[in-house]
Amino acid sequence: MNPQVIIRQKRDGKILSNNQVAAFVAGAVDSTWTRGQIGSMLMALFQQGMNLDETRTLLDQMMRSGEVLDVSGIDIPKADKHSTGGVGDKVSLVLAPLAAACGMAVPMLSGRGLGHTGGTLDKLESIPGFNVFLSKKEIHRQVSEIGCVIAGQTADIVPADKILYAMRDETATVEHPSLIAASIMSKKLVEGIDALLLDVKFGKGAFLQKLEDAEFLARLMVDLGKAMGCKAGAWLTRMDTPLGRTVGNAVEVEECIAILKNEGPDELTDLIVEQVAGMLELTGLIADRKIARETVLEKLANGEALNRFAAMVRAQGGDDGIIDDPSRLPKANHVVDIHYQEAEVAYVGDVDAREIAEIVLDTGAGRRCAEDDVNHACGITHLASVGDRLQPGEILARLHHATPEKEIEWMERIRKTMTLTAEPVVVPPRIFKEIR
Ligand code: URA
Repeated sequence: MNPQVIIRQKRDGKILSNNQVAAFVAGAVDSTWTRGQIGSMLMALFQQGMNLDETRTLLDQMMRSGEVLDVSGIDIPKADKHSTGGVGDKVSLVLAPLAAACGMAVPMLSGRGLGHTGGTLDKLESIPGFNVFLSKKEIHRQVSEIGCVIAGQTADIVPADKILYAMRDETATVEHPSLIAASIMSKKLVEGIDALLLDVKFGKGAFLQKLEDAEFLARLMVDLGKAMGCKAGAWLTRMDTPLGRTVGNAVEVEECIAILKNEGPDELTDLIVEQVAGMLELTGLIADRKIARETVLEKLANGEALNRFAAMVRAQGGDDGIIDDPSRLPKANHVVDIHYQEAEVAYVGDVDAREIAEIVLDTGAGRRCAEDDVNHACGITHLASVGDRLQPGEILARLHHATPEKEIEWMERIRKTMTLTAEPVVVPPRIFKEIR
C-alpha cells in the first residue's frame, strides 16, 4: 500500500480503512515508511482526527506489533489499573498485591518517571536488588504463583509505541487524545487482561490539567477498552495536591509499606481501597461495591496484602527486609525539616502539586530526559496535606536531599507551595466522577 495515498487520504479528512491504519503501523515498525512519511501521517492524524474505529485499529495494530503476554492459562480474572500519572502517585505498589490478595491476577507492566510525574519502576528500584526486567515466561510464572507482578516493558512489547511516541515528540503531535489513548491502551491491553480501571487525573499536578480534556480521554479509553473486549472503567480524580505525604522514590516505598501495614494516610488508603473495590466490580468477582470494599479492607487488615507484597519483592530479587526495617532503603545524606513558624493555629488550604514535583525533580529524584539517572534517596516526607490543622512549630515537610548548597532555596520553595488559612478547610474528595 502506497504511503503517499494513505497520508493524502487522511490529510484530506477522509476515514482510513483498517488495512490502511495497519499499513501505517507496520511501515513505522519495519521502517518501510520513511521518517518524513511517519511524521506527515502523525500530523495528518493530529489535524484531522480519527473516529473510534480507526483509533481502535491503531491501538490493536500497535498492541500486536510485538510480543503479547499470554496469561490465558491463569484461570482467575486478570485485571489492572492505569494512572495517567500524578505527584506522589504510589497507588500501583499497594494496589497490585492488594488486588492479588482479593483474588485477581495482576500482570502489571509499568513505566519510568519522566518530567514532573514519578514512575512506578523507579520507586520499586529503590528496593535493594529489585528487578523489573522480567521475561514473558518469568512474568507468567510470577502471576501464576503470587498473583501479581510489576515489571517494565521489554523492547519487544508494543515496539510501535516506542517508535511512534518518539516521532510524536519530534513532530509536536503528542497531545492528540486518539494518539494518547491508543498509546496507553496498547500498553495495557497487551497484558491480556479482562478488566482495566483507568485513573485519569486532572488538575495542577496532572498530565492533563483541564477536567474536560481528562474526561474526553477517559471516555475514549473506556470505549476503546470495551471495543477490544476488555471490561474498562475510568475514574476522574483530582491531582491538584500531592497524593499522600511523600514524594520521591524510596520515601514513597516506605509510605506504601505503612499503608500495607494499615498505618498509612487515610485519604490515600481510601483511594487505593476504592480502586481495588472498583476492579473487583469490573471483573464481576464482587458485583456490589460495598461488599467489595469490605473484602478489600479485610485483606489489608489481616496482612494478606502485605504478604503478597513481600512475596512479590522476593520473587523479583528484592530485599524484603525493608518491610520490617525501612532503614535498609536508600537514605539521603541531608535531611531537613521545614516548620510552621507563626504563633496562631492555621489550616492547610492548598499544596501546589506541580511545584512540589518540580522541587523533587530538582533534587535528582526524577528525570528531565529519558537518559537521566535517578537518585532514589531524595524526596519529601511528612508533607502537610490540605485540611491539616497546624500548631505553631509543626513540621510542614521534611526534605531529603544530596545538595547542601541548594537546601535553603528548596526549603523556601516548599514553604511557598502551601497556602494556609485561619479557618478550617473542607477537603474535596479525590474521586470526582466514575465513567463506565
Ligand atoms: N502516556 C502514554 O503512555 N502515552 C501517551 O501518548 C501519553 C501519555
